[in-house]
Amino acid sequence: MSNNILDKERLRDNLDAVISKIEEARLRVSGHHIVKLVTVAKYTEVANIATLYELGQRAFGENQVQQLRSRIDELSDLPLEWHMIGTLQKNKINNLIDLSPSLVQSIDSLELALEMEKKLQAKGKKLSALLQINSANEESKSGVNPDEAKDIYQQITESCPSIRLKGVMSIGAHVEDREIIQKSFETTHNIFESLRNDGATICSMGMSGDYELAISCGSNLVRVGSALFR
Ligand SMILES: *Cc1c(COP(=O)(O)O)cnc(C)c1O
Repeated sequence: MSNNILDKERLRDNLDAVISKIEEARLRVSGHHIVKLVTVAKYTEVANIATLYELGQRAFGENQVQQLRSRIDELSDLPLEWHMIGTLQKNKINNLIDLSPSLVQSIDSLELALEMEKKLQAKGKKLSALLQINSANEESKSGVNPDEAKDIYQQITESCPSIRLKGVMSIGAHVEDREIIQKSFETTHNIFESLRNDGATICSMGMSGDYELAISCGSNLVRVGSALFR
């Protein structure tokens, strides 16, 4: 965590560099492959979020409900789009629902979805979400097992009418070997493709260290943090 308010020119340079690389990577896939950038603000000062908004960035992600809430409060004057991207504890579900995030990217079990459905029904609200897949089968990571992902996705779609499932999310394998990282992205992308008929439109993969690779594997939403705030 840096205590660093970056000046506008610095943030402009960082943002431009990331956007150019996204652009190059997506055009290598196809001119029709559009990629959305969600800026992950968890490491940075709230002032930098406001500056990024001035530079044209609208979608921001946080991995903790509490921090999401304080930032939504502090920046309530700006028409920002907020994404919850972190592991969600059951006792935070009500707080999260009250914040009406644009997208909860981290539904990581059927159990969590069912619990969320109950709370959504009680409040008469709906929520858009992604199913998180642990495509590298890493113990340290949240997400459903790739072998069960399609089933769980369909079960959530059937049993949770208040949750609008829009696709899948993965964190790339946490290793140096690019081939293994690529495999993990391909695993998630294959599941995404198999869920197209179930309404999946978002394949969220790629962070600062691997977003170009993720795009080449079919990601259409990248979550970039540290590359913007150095
Ligand atoms: C922190 C985080 C990111 C961004 O990570 P960087 O490597 O800083 O770009 C993306 N996705 C999730 C789920 C995160 O927790």
